[in-house]
Amino acid sequence: MPLFGWGSSDKKTPKEEIRPIPGRQIYCRICNADRMFSRAWRRVSPMVKCPCCGMEFPKPEEVYKRFQPICPKCEEPLEQPGFDYGICDGCGSKYEITEGCKPGLLPNYKQRQEMNKYGKIWSPYW
Ligand SMILES: [Zn+2]
Ligand SMILES: [Zn+2]
Repeated sequence: MPLFGWGSSDKKTPKEEIRPIPGRQIYCRICNADRMFSRAWRRVSPMVKCPCCGMEFPKPEEVYKRFQPICPKCEEPLEQPGFDYGICDGCGSKYEITEGCKPGLLPNYKQRQEMNKYGKIWSPYW
């Protein structure tokens, strides 16, 4: 699984800014349990490259026009500046984490395939 710029030394892609935040315990609906999210971060600048299929976004503002931005190619949900994200230690699922709100799952490629199979339209809030 790509690690969203973690320890990336690729100098060619424009710099994406994320700031690590302290890990916390969050309810993961995939694990169906409270899990530790020891890897968590706040996104500072828009994503310039899809972490799933590697497609580059020369004009991130185009992709970010949507309320819930997704990769035009593979539908990877994109992280939005000013929001916090975390990875479940138990299953590796990515969530948007908002203080006082239910965490919103950002389904990875495999999870999106599963949802399509069952005819579910992806929504972070189902
Ligand atoms: Zn993609
Ligand atoms: Zn989990």
